Amino acid sequence: MLRTTIAGSLPKPSWLADPAYQLFAPWVVPPERLREAQDDAVRLAVLDQERAGIDVVTDGEQRRRHYIWGFLDGLTGVDTRRTAKKRTRGDRYDTLQDVARVVGELGRPAPVMVDALRFTRSLTSRPVKVTLPGPMTIVDTTLDEFYHEDEKTMAMRWAALLGAEARDLAEAGADVIQFDEPCFNIYLDKVAAWGVEALERAVEGVTCVTAVHICYSYGIPRVLAWKSRNTEWGQYAETLPLIRHSSIRQVSVECAASRVDVSVLAAAAGKDVLLGVIDVGSEAVETPELVAQRIRAALPYVPPDRLVPCTDCGLVPRSRAAAVGKLSALAAGAALVRAELQSPRAAGR
Ligand code: ZN
Repeated sequence: MLRTTIAGSLPKPSWLADPAYQLFAPWVVPPERLREAQDDAVRLAVLDQERAGIDVVTDGEQRRRHYIWGFLDGLTGVDTRRTAKKRTRGDRYDTLQDVARVVGELGRPAPVMVDALRFTRSLTSRPVKVTLPGPMTIVDTTLDEFYHEDEKTMAMRWAALLGAEARDLAEAGADVIQFDEPCFNIYLDKVAAWGVEALERAVEGVTCVTAVHICYSYGIPRVLAWKSRNTEWGQYAETLPLIRHSSIRQVSVECAASRVDVSVLAAAAGKDVLLGVIDVGSEAVETPELVAQRIRAALPYVPPDRLVPCTDCGLVPRSRAAAVGKLSALAAGAALVRAELQSPRAAGR
C-alpha cells in the first residue's frame, strides 16, 4: 500500500536542454549526439527515482521536447517544428501557445516510444510507467489545418493512433500507461460528451494498467497566477464519477497546490488514486511530515491499497536539486504513513 510514483517528467540536465525553456526543451547537444545524451539523462532520472525510493518509475520524459510533441514527433501528417499560435485551455491562462499543426493525413509508420521504453526497462527492475498525451488535450494543443473536422472526430482519430501505441507499449513491457488530460479540468461538458469516450478508445485492448492524469497544469508563472485567483475547484466532482464508470484503472489528481477538497476523491471509488502530495510550482521542498499530512487527509476517502502518493504534475519546470528533494520527500512521507498504518495501534483503529 501507498506505493509511490510521479506524474511523469523530471527536469532535464542543462547539458541536454536549455533550462531557461524547460517546457519546450531546445536541445543543446548536436543531433548526432542527442540519442547518447538522452540515454544518459534517462539513466540519471531512473537513478534519482530509485535512490529516493519511488516505486513506479518513468524515464523522466527526458526524450521529449514537450509532453505532447514527444508523441507527435513520431507521426506523419503533423508538424511540430513550424508551429502555430493558438488560444488553448479555454484561454484560462490568457496566452497564445505554440502548437503543432496537422498538415496531412495522420499516420504512425512505426511505434514511437517502444525503443525508449525498452531502454528504461533495461535499467530497472521496478515497474515502469509511460505517459502519453490524451486525445482531448492533443486536440486542444494542435491546429487542424488538414481535416477541418469537429473536435470529437479529431479526438477519435488521435485516440486510434494512441491506442495502437499503447498496445505496443504494453506488449513491450510497460507496466502502466498514463494519458495526460489536463483539459479534463477545463472542458467539463466535452469530457462528458466525448472526452471519456475518446480515452476509452485509446485504452481498448491495452493489457497493462491504464491511468489518466488530470491536473491544473504545470507549476509555471502564468498557471500559478491563474491558480491564485481561481475560486472554482469543483471540477473533479464532475469528472471523477465519469472516470469511475470507465475502464481506466488509475486517476491522477492535483491536491497539493490546488484548493480541491479531498473528500471529492470518494467519487473515484474502485479506482487507484494517484494523489498529488507534491507541489510542482515551488522550489520549496516539502518535509516528509507535510507529505504525510496530505496523505492522511485523503485516507478517509481512499483506502490505502488504492492510494498512490504522487506529484501534482510534472517536475520539469523545477531545478534538479528541488526535484530530487521532492522525490525523497514523497517517498519518505509515504513511508511515515505506511508505518503508522502497519503499527499495532492502527490495527485497533
Ligand atoms: Zn499535469
